Amino acid sequence: MREKVCLECRKPLNGRRDKKFCDEGCRNTYHNRINSEKPLSVRSVNTILSKNRKIISQIMYMKGELEITEQKLSGMGFNFEYFTGLSNENNKIYHHCYEFAYVSENKGIYKVYQLPILEES
Ligand SMILES: [Zn+2]
Repeated sequence: MREKVCLECRKPLNGRRDKKFCDEGCRNTYHNRINSEKPLSVRSVNTILSKNRKIISQIMYMKGELEITEQKLSGMGFNFEYFTGLSNENNKIYHHCYEFAYVSENKGIYKVYQLPILEES
C-alpha cells in the first residue's frame, strides 16, 4: 500500500487514515493556492491587461525607455501571467499586450516594442 502523504508538502502522514495534511498550516496553504488558481472573471482579466498596457505605454512614452527590468515591471504592478497574444521571431517569444510587445532579452531584462497597428478589415 502506498504511503499517504500531505497534499501540500508531500511529507508522509501518520495518524488518522482520512488525514490529508500534516497540519493546519499545510491545509491553509493548499486551499489558498487552489482558490487563487480559479479562473478570473472577464472583468478582472480586462483590468489586469489594461493595467499592463498602461505600464508599458508609461515606460515607452513617458520615460522613453525600451529596456526594463523584470523587477521594475513587477514593482509597477505588471502581471506577467496575462497577455493578448504571442509571436515567435528569431527564436524569441514576444508577449503581446494590445499594441505593444515585450521580450525577455537577458535574464530579468525585458525589451518593449510597439507592434504594427493591425488594420481592421
Ligand atoms: Zn504538510
